[in-house]
Amino acid sequence: MKEFKNLIGQKFNRWTVIGISDKTNKHYDRYWLCQCSCESKTIREVSELSLIKERSKSCGCYSSEKTTEMNKERAFTDKYPHYKRIKSIYDGMRKRCYNINKDNYDSYGGRGISICKEWLENFMVFYNWAIKNGYQDNLTIDRIDNDGNYKPDNCRWATQEMQDYNRRTTIYLTIDGESKTVLEWEKISGLSWSVLWQRYNKSGYRTKEEMFKPSQEYVKLIHNGIEKTLPQIARDTGIQVETLRKRYKRGIRDDELIKQVGKQNNRENKIDIREEVTTIGRDTDSIAHIL
Ligand SMILES: [Zn+2]
Repeated sequence: MKEFKNLIGQKFNRWTVIGISDKTNKHYDRYWLCQCSCESKTIREVSELSLIKERSKSCGCYSSEKTTEMNKERAFTDKYPHYKRIKSIYDGMRKRCYNINKDNYDSYGGRGISICKEWLENFMVFYNWAIKNGYQDNLTIDRIDNDGNYKPDNCRWATQEMQDYNRRTTIYLTIDGESKTVLEWEKISGLSWSVLWQRYNKSGYRTKEEMFKPSQEYVKLIHNGIEKTLPQIARDTGIQVETLRKRYKRGIRDDELIKQVGKQNNRENKIDIREEVTTIGRDTDSIAHIL
Protein backbone atom coordinates (compact mmCIF):
# COMPACT_ATOMS: atom_id res chain seq x y z
CA MET A 1 0.00 0.00 0.00
CA LYS A 2 1.30 3.44 -0.98
CA GLU A 3 1.85 5.99 1.74
CA PHE A 4 -1.16 8.18 2.22
CA LYS A 5 -0.68 11.92 2.02
CA ASN A 6 -3.65 14.20 2.35
CA LEU A 7 -3.69 16.69 -0.51
CA ILE A 8 -7.03 18.31 0.29
CA GLY A 9 -6.76 22.09 0.04
CA GLN A 10 -3.57 21.99 -2.01
CA LYS A 11 -3.29 23.69 -5.40
CA PHE A 12 -1.73 22.12 -8.48
CA ASN A 13 -1.70 24.70 -11.26
CA ARG A 14 -5.40 25.49 -11.76
CA TRP A 15 -6.60 22.48 -9.81
CA THR A 16 -7.54 22.72 -6.16
CA VAL A 17 -7.96 19.40 -4.39
CA ILE A 18 -11.36 19.38 -2.70
CA GLY A 19 -11.79 15.76 -1.78
CA ILE A 20 -10.62 12.20 -2.14
CA SER A 21 -12.03 9.91 -4.78
CA ASP A 22 -12.52 6.17 -4.54
CA LYS A 23 -11.58 5.79 -8.17
CA THR A 24 -8.42 3.89 -8.91
CA ASN A 25 -6.72 2.23 -11.87
CA LYS A 26 -4.77 -0.93 -12.44
CA HIS A 27 -1.64 0.67 -10.94
CA TYR A 28 -3.61 1.48 -7.80
CA ASP A 29 -3.00 5.18 -8.29
CA ARG A 30 -4.88 7.43 -5.93
CA TYR A 31 -7.43 9.82 -7.40
CA TRP A 32 -8.51 13.16 -6.01
CA LEU A 33 -11.54 15.31 -6.57
CA CYS A 34 -10.28 18.54 -8.05
CA GLN A 35 -11.92 21.81 -8.98
CA CYS A 36 -10.58 24.07 -11.71
CA SER A 37 -10.08 27.74 -10.87
CA CYS A 38 -11.55 28.95 -14.16
CA GLU A 39 -15.09 30.24 -14.60
CA SER A 40 -16.44 26.79 -15.42
CA LYS A 41 -15.54 25.54 -11.88
CA THR A 42 -15.25 22.08 -13.40
CA ILE A 43 -14.84 19.25 -10.92
CA ARG A 44 -13.00 16.15 -12.05
CA GLU A 45 -11.21 13.11 -10.63
CA VAL A 46 -7.51 13.53 -11.29
CA SER A 47 -4.83 11.01 -10.37
CA GLU A 48 -2.26 12.08 -7.82
CA LEU A 49 0.51 11.33 -10.30
CA SER A 50 -1.04 13.62 -12.91
CA LEU A 51 -1.25 16.42 -10.38
CA ILE A 52 2.33 16.03 -9.17
CA LYS A 53 3.86 15.47 -12.61
CA GLU A 54 1.75 18.34 -13.99
CA ARG A 55 0.26 16.15 -16.67
CA SER A 56 -3.05 17.72 -15.86
CA LYS A 57 -3.04 21.43 -15.15
CA SER A 58 -6.65 22.38 -15.61
CA CYS A 59 -9.99 21.34 -16.97
CA GLY A 60 -8.59 22.12 -20.41
CA CYS A 61 -9.09 25.86 -20.19
CA TYR A 62 -5.36 26.49 -19.79
CA SER A 63 -4.28 24.89 -23.05
CA SER A 64 -7.16 26.39 -24.98
CA GLU A 65 -6.17 29.84 -23.68
CA LYS A 66 -2.59 29.18 -24.78
CA THR A 67 -3.77 28.22 -28.25
CA THR A 68 -5.93 31.31 -28.51
CA GLU A 69 -2.98 33.46 -27.45
CA MET A 70 -0.72 31.87 -30.07
CA ASN A 71 -3.38 32.27 -32.72
CA LYS A 72 -3.80 35.89 -31.78
CA GLU A 73 -0.05 36.45 -32.06
CA ARG A 74 0.04 34.76 -35.45
CA ALA A 75 -2.92 36.78 -36.67
CA PHE A 76 -1.21 39.95 -35.45
CA THR A 77 2.02 39.17 -37.28
CA ASP A 78 0.05 38.35 -40.42
CA LYS A 79 -1.80 41.61 -40.19
CA TYR A 80 1.21 43.75 -39.26
CA PRO A 81 4.21 41.98 -40.79
CA HIS A 82 6.66 44.88 -40.27
CA TYR A 83 5.51 45.73 -36.78
CA LYS A 84 8.80 44.94 -35.06
CA ARG A 85 11.15 46.92 -37.31
CA ILE A 86 8.83 49.90 -37.68
CA LYS A 87 8.38 49.97 -33.92
CA SER A 88 12.12 50.08 -33.36
CA ILE A 89 12.46 52.90 -35.92
CA TYR A 90 9.66 54.71 -34.11
CA ASP A 91 11.32 54.23 -30.74
CA GLY A 92 14.64 55.48 -32.12
CA MET A 93 12.94 58.58 -33.50
CA ARG A 94 11.35 59.31 -30.13
CA LYS A 95 14.67 58.91 -28.35
CA ARG A 96 16.50 61.23 -30.76
CA CYS A 97 13.87 63.90 -30.24
CA TYR A 98 12.98 63.55 -26.58
CA ASN A 99 15.66 61.65 -24.70
CA ILE A 100 18.24 64.17 -23.60
CA ASN A 101 20.57 61.36 -22.53
CA LYS A 102 20.97 60.06 -26.07
CA ASP A 103 24.19 60.97 -27.87
CA ASN A 104 22.46 62.17 -31.00
CA TYR A 105 19.85 64.20 -29.10
CA ASP A 106 21.91 67.32 -29.91
CA SER A 107 21.29 66.88 -33.64
CA TYR A 108 17.55 66.33 -33.19
CA GLY A 109 15.60 67.29 -30.08
CA GLY A 110 18.44 69.57 -29.08
CA ARG A 111 17.90 71.73 -32.15
CA GLY A 112 14.14 71.70 -31.97
CA ILE A 113 13.28 68.69 -34.15
CA SER A 114 10.05 67.15 -32.89
CA ILE A 115 7.51 64.51 -33.87
CA CYS A 116 4.02 65.49 -34.97
CA LYS A 117 1.26 64.97 -32.41
CA GLU A 118 -0.56 62.21 -34.30
CA TRP A 119 2.57 60.06 -34.50
CA LEU A 120 3.79 60.85 -31.04
CA GLU A 121 0.50 59.89 -29.44
CA ASN A 122 -0.23 56.79 -31.46
CA PHE A 123 2.31 54.39 -32.87
CA MET A 124 -0.26 52.71 -35.14
CA VAL A 125 -0.88 56.02 -36.94
CA PHE A 126 2.84 56.06 -37.73
CA TYR A 127 2.77 52.38 -38.69
CA ASN A 128 -0.08 52.85 -41.13
CA TRP A 129 1.55 55.93 -42.63
CA ALA A 130 4.78 53.93 -43.11
CA ILE A 131 3.07 51.06 -44.91
CA LYS A 132 1.13 53.38 -47.20
CA ASN A 133 4.17 55.50 -48.00
CA GLY A 134 6.80 53.17 -49.36
CA TYR A 135 8.14 51.46 -46.25
CA GLN A 136 10.53 48.59 -47.04
CA ASP A 137 12.77 46.56 -44.78
CA ASN A 138 15.96 48.01 -46.30
CA LEU A 139 14.89 51.63 -45.89
CA THR A 140 15.00 54.02 -42.99
CA ILE A 141 13.05 57.16 -42.27
CA ASP A 142 14.39 60.35 -43.82
CA ARG A 143 13.35 63.93 -43.25
CA ILE A 144 13.14 65.80 -46.55
CA ASP A 145 13.91 69.14 -44.94
CA ASN A 146 16.67 68.44 -42.46
CA ASP A 147 15.53 71.33 -40.27
CA GLY A 148 11.91 70.16 -40.39
CA ASN A 149 10.07 67.85 -38.03
CA TYR A 150 9.06 64.24 -38.18
CA LYS A 151 5.64 64.55 -39.82
CA PRO A 152 3.98 62.94 -42.83
CA ASP A 153 4.76 65.65 -45.39
CA ASN A 154 8.40 65.95 -44.36
CA CYS A 155 9.25 62.27 -44.22
CA ARG A 156 9.97 59.51 -46.67
CA TRP A 157 11.59 56.09 -46.70
CA ALA A 158 15.08 56.09 -48.16
CA THR A 159 18.27 54.07 -48.28
CA GLN A 160 21.19 55.25 -46.19
CA GLU A 161 23.06 56.27 -49.37
CA MET A 162 20.11 58.37 -50.51
CA GLN A 163 19.92 60.00 -47.11
CA ASP A 164 23.62 60.80 -47.04
CA TYR A 165 23.45 62.25 -50.52
CA ASN A 166 20.34 64.19 -49.66
CA ARG A 167 22.05 65.70 -46.66
CA ARG A 168 25.14 66.60 -48.62
CA THR A 169 23.14 68.41 -51.29
CA THR A 170 20.56 70.12 -49.13
CA ILE A 171 22.44 71.10 -46.02
CA TYR A 172 24.19 74.45 -46.21
CA LEU A 173 27.17 75.29 -44.09
CA THR A 174 28.19 78.91 -43.67
CA ILE A 175 31.94 79.20 -43.53
CA ASP A 176 33.61 82.61 -43.43
CA GLY A 177 30.22 84.08 -44.32
CA GLU A 178 29.83 81.95 -47.47
CA SER A 179 26.92 79.48 -47.65
CA LYS A 180 27.42 76.37 -49.72
CA THR A 181 26.11 72.82 -49.62
CA VAL A 182 28.13 70.19 -47.82
CA LEU A 183 28.85 68.60 -51.20
CA GLU A 184 30.34 71.86 -52.50
CA TRP A 185 32.47 72.29 -49.39
CA GLU A 186 33.61 68.70 -49.78
CA LYS A 187 34.88 69.44 -53.27
CA ILE A 188 36.61 72.61 -52.13
CA SER A 189 38.26 71.13 -49.05
CA GLY A 190 38.81 67.56 -50.07
CA LEU A 191 37.44 66.52 -46.71
CA SER A 192 34.59 64.08 -46.35
CA TRP A 193 31.19 65.30 -45.27
CA SER A 194 31.40 63.46 -41.97
CA VAL A 195 34.54 65.39 -41.04
CA LEU A 196 32.99 68.69 -42.14
CA TRP A 197 29.78 67.88 -40.33
CA GLN A 198 31.60 66.93 -37.18
CA ARG A 199 33.66 70.10 -37.16
CA TYR A 200 30.71 72.33 -37.96
CA ASN A 201 28.25 70.86 -35.50
CA LYS A 202 30.29 69.34 -32.71
CA SER A 203 33.23 71.73 -32.67
CA GLY A 204 31.20 74.74 -33.81
CA TYR A 205 33.83 75.86 -36.34
CA ARG A 206 32.83 78.59 -38.78
CA THR A 207 36.05 79.67 -40.46
CA LYS A 208 37.92 78.07 -43.34
CA GLU A 209 41.02 77.98 -41.22
CA GLU A 210 39.33 75.80 -38.62
CA MET A 211 37.08 73.85 -40.95
CA PHE A 212 39.68 72.94 -43.53
CA LYS A 213 42.71 72.36 -41.35
CA PRO A 214 44.34 69.12 -42.26
CA SER A 215 43.44 66.33 -39.98
CA GLN A 216 45.93 63.83 -38.73
CA GLU A 217 44.45 61.25 -41.04
CA TYR A 218 44.14 63.56 -43.99
CA VAL A 219 47.46 63.07 -45.61
CA LYS A 220 47.91 64.62 -48.99
CA LEU A 221 49.36 62.59 -51.79
CA ILE A 222 50.58 63.56 -55.20
CA HIS A 223 48.17 62.09 -57.69
CA ASN A 224 48.84 62.77 -61.39
CA GLY A 225 51.13 65.58 -60.35
CA ILE A 226 48.52 67.29 -58.19
CA GLU A 227 48.37 67.26 -54.44
CA LYS A 228 45.21 65.51 -53.39
CA THR A 229 43.59 64.06 -50.31
CA LEU A 230 42.31 60.53 -50.14
CA PRO A 231 38.66 61.56 -50.66
CA GLN A 232 39.70 63.47 -53.78
CA ILE A 233 41.62 60.49 -55.09
CA ALA A 234 38.58 58.37 -54.31
CA ARG A 235 36.41 60.62 -56.42
CA ASP A 236 38.90 60.62 -59.29
CA THR A 237 39.46 56.88 -59.34
CA GLY A 238 36.04 55.65 -58.30
CA ILE A 239 37.58 53.62 -55.47
CA GLN A 240 35.79 53.82 -52.16
CA VAL A 241 37.50 56.21 -49.79
CA GLU A 242 37.24 53.59 -47.03
CA THR A 243 39.22 51.20 -49.22
CA LEU A 244 41.87 53.84 -49.81
CA ARG A 245 42.11 54.60 -46.09
CA LYS A 246 42.47 50.95 -45.21
CA ARG A 247 45.16 50.49 -47.85
CA TYR A 248 46.94 53.64 -46.77
CA LYS A 249 46.93 52.55 -43.15
CA ARG A 250 48.45 49.23 -44.17
CA GLY A 251 51.30 51.15 -45.76
CA ILE A 252 50.18 50.64 -49.36
CA ARG A 253 51.27 53.42 -51.71
CA ASP A 254 51.58 54.32 -55.38
CA ASP A 255 49.92 52.07 -57.95
CA GLU A 256 48.90 49.53 -55.35
CA LEU A 257 46.92 52.17 -53.50
CA ILE A 258 44.66 52.89 -56.45
CA LYS A 259 44.50 49.35 -57.79
CA GLN A 260 40.97 48.54 -58.88
CA VAL A 261 39.53 45.54 -57.11
CA GLY A 262 39.21 42.58 -59.41
CA LYS A 263 40.65 44.49 -62.37
CA GLN A 264 44.06 44.42 -63.95
CA ASN A 265 45.82 47.71 -63.53
CA ASN A 266 46.12 49.23 -66.96
CA ARG A 267 49.59 50.37 -67.89
CA GLU A 268 48.31 53.68 -69.17
CA ASN A 269 46.57 54.29 -65.88
CA LYS A 270 49.84 54.16 -64.03
CA ILE A 271 49.72 57.11 -61.78
CA ASP A 272 52.45 58.73 -59.85
CA ILE A 273 51.44 58.85 -56.26
CA ARG A 274 53.97 59.72 -53.70
CA GLU A 275 53.59 60.84 -50.22
CA GLU A 276 53.99 64.56 -49.85
CA VAL A 277 52.71 65.38 -46.42
CA THR A 278 52.33 62.82 -43.74
CA THR A 279 51.11 64.39 -40.61
CA ILE A 280 50.24 68.00 -40.27
CA GLY A 281 49.86 68.73 -36.61
CA ARG A 282 47.41 67.21 -34.28
CA ASP A 283 43.76 67.49 -34.97
CA THR A 284 41.51 68.07 -32.04
CA ASP A 285 38.57 66.48 -33.80
CA SER A 286 37.70 62.93 -33.23
CA ILE A 287 38.14 61.29 -36.57
CA ALA A 288 37.97 57.80 -35.20
CA HIS A 289 34.33 57.40 -36.07
CA ILE A 290 34.92 57.73 -39.79
CA LEU A 291 37.93 55.49 -39.99
ZN1 LIG B 1 -10.77 25.37 -16.22
